[in-house]
Amino acid sequence: MIVMKFGGSSVANAERIRSMADIVRQYMPRRPVLVLSAMGDTTDYLLEAADSALEMGIVSIHKIEEPHRKAIEELRLDVEITPLIEELKNLLLGVSMIKELTKKTKDYLVSFGERLSVRIASAYFKKIGVNAKPIDAWEAGFVSNNNYSQAWLLKESWELIPQRLIPLIEEGILPVVTGFIAKTKDGVITTLGRGGSDLTATVIAAACGAEEAQVWKDVDGILSGDPHIVPSAKPLSVITYEEAAELAYYGAQVLHPRAMQPCVKTGVPVLVKNSYNPSAPGTRIVSTVEKNAASKPVRAITTRKNVTMIDIASTRMMGQSGFLERVFAVFTRHDVSVDMVATSEVSVSVTLDTACNLDRIREDLLEIVHVDIKTGKAIITIIGDVERSSEILSRACGVCFDLGVQVQMISQGASKVNISFIVENTQAEDVVRGLHKEFFD
Ligand code: ASP
Ligand code: MG
Repeated sequence: MIVMKFGGSSVANAERIRSMADIVRQYMPRRPVLVLSAMGDTTDYLLEAADSALEMGIVSIHKIEEPHRKAIEELRLDVEITPLIEELKNLLLGVSMIKELTKKTKDYLVSFGERLSVRIASAYFKKIGVNAKPIDAWEAGFVSNNNYSQAWLLKESWELIPQRLIPLIEEGILPVVTGFIAKTKDGVITTLGRGGSDLTATVIAAACGAEEAQVWKDVDGILSGDPHIVPSAKPLSVITYEEAAELAYYGAQVLHPRAMQPCVKTGVPVLVKNSYNPSAPGTRIVSTVEKNAASKPVRAITTRKNVTMIDIASTRMMGQSGFLERVFAVFTRHDVSVDMVATSEVSVSVTLDTACNLDRIREDLLEIVHVDIKTGKAIITIIGDVERSSEILSRACGVCFDLGVQVQMISQGASKVNISFIVENTQAEDVVRGLHKEFFD
């Protein structure tokens, strides 16, 4: 069996649903389980509708209902979505009346996107003679903790998922499973984080021992750089899980950052394909990639903007134990995750996502150290061959030097595939273009 996942733009309207189904039909002999995202930008529209209900007391679902109705009409489907639409309206009405929108309610709310898309897609499959069945993730065994908006799946999911899905495949059914969502043991709906359908797909593939997990996107695979910044960026034919995870984390919006974890455990390959260009080979993500003399030292370059750099200095750090522990305890207390770290004997620099309360963090840190918080920075990440790190560093620094860019902080792990450094937001794109030219052109 295989798992095939299609993202929002690959099921955005009647025409996209038709071409998605054409692709799936070709793979029917390999016995697919299908995982779908919400149609188009439905998830964003659901969040917008929630905000209008909360802030203005307005319940408006036109932007959500209309594209779904239109697709049903254009595809002439026999499917009833009114009960889900009514439930959604009632929920929004509730939000507008209580004037409260918790993370728990938000998860319930965004779940309608995926629940609608699997029902519509399944109806289309039926119409073209494929025996499909829409399945909400919890019926497929997805049990999570209650960390709303970023839920983690519980261990029992690994047993439940194959128990629920494999018998269906054996009966010749095409299961069409909602991506992104799950339920707690108590039956409350949760989500796995934005873009979480990738994770749904890789978990199913790993738990069922699938031959492969295919992730169908709107680009030709994982590229050597962001095509908006580097028009000449090329799709990579093969890349490791570790490299893909680093890329996802450091700003290449190709895959959900946690989506590689289930595959690392079991070694199921992931294939990233383009639903607009199915004949393109795509990118294969596997455990290890053979190197040869012709291999390039760098695989991909990415950037993430708007990060905050915190410079922490203490005269007392010299020779003191427990200093870093106290510094990091502050970040733990504020529930922010640190991305990069560089230390010397008397100072430590870290970077954080800007989406956190910097004033409160500053106050807490000031109790133990001198702090200097600098916002508006960008992380540049080079994913490459650690064994050629000196070559990569010297060429990368050469590029920055030629551009007149000061590298502000730099970090490279011992065995890791990633070299990251900080520059100003405004310089990030020039640096990425310069690096891409240096290493690929
Ligand atoms: N629909 C969700 C989102 O837009 C999940 C996904 O697309 O993977 O984030
Ligand atoms: Mg989406």
